[in-house]
Amino acid sequence: MRPQRFFPLIILLFVVVLAVVPAAGQDASTEEPIPDDAEPAWDGTLRRIRVPILMYHYVSPLPPNADQFRVELTISPEAFRAHAEYLFFEGYSTISFYQLNEALLNGLPLPPKPIILTFDDGYIDHYTNVLPTLQERGFTATFFIITGLVDAADPAYLSWEQIQEMAAAGMDIEPHTKNHLSLREREYDFLVYEMLGSIESLRAYLGRTPHILAYPVGQFDEETLTVARQLPIWRAVTTQPGRYHTTDNRLELDRVRITGGMSAAGLASLLNSE
Ligand SMILES: [Zn+2]
Repeated sequence: MRPQRFFPLIILLFVVVLAVVPAAGQDASTEEPIPDDAEPAWDGTLRRIRVPILMYHYVSPLPPNADQFRVELTISPEAFRAHAEYLFFEGYSTISFYQLNEALLNGLPLPPKPIILTFDDGYIDHYTNVLPTLQERGFTATFFIITGLVDAADPAYLSWEQIQEMAAAGMDIEPHTKNHLSLREREYDFLVYEMLGSIESLRAYLGRTPHILAYPVGQFDEETLTVARQLPIWRAVTTQPGRYHTTDNRLELDRVRITGGMSAAGLASLLNSE
């Protein structure tokens, strides 16, 4: 073959090498490990703080075939707007679990009338109905995600893109295990898979390690707690009723259940009782 015939081939090889090398460099940079953040240190003082943690599920119209289970877990988008309006005009400040944790560990000052809004299970209406209403009032919330359902791209649940958008909008996205199965009477491997698996999925999509867990259907036992203590879980919430939190109760935080169809007046009476 004469040299002139080689020339275009050499140019082509050169272009290919130029195109591939920076792309390889970019891949390497996205695979850098996500740094592990350390939990704020405890100053040695035991504290007890009143912060209602509201527990919502569906915020949507009731489907025509709704069973009793669905009815009890649903409030309408209009009712939720009324809740948000009530909280806004009553001067409540939404805070994150990270603020509550620091307040309990080292006395971080909290804003007036602190409250935490939580939404369980990652339903699609948390993006379509909840997020816009929160943003209208300048509120934030914590969303507990069943990561296996997001991986399965079930249209009744949030997608990873929507979850990333909510995180970018200042919402806290936290694990609710991979498959939403009871964590009672389970083997060690199952517990690690369900809890750490959902933490790792969120970490991969959000670029931060989430440290707050919600037990599926509020169920756990001593073994669950033993395994949770070995994982990067700073606080965990149950479905038990209560409004007060203490420094040393890290893995059994009480919540305030929002029952089906609850009005703003119903919310007000819940918040005004002890
Ligand atoms: Zn749940």
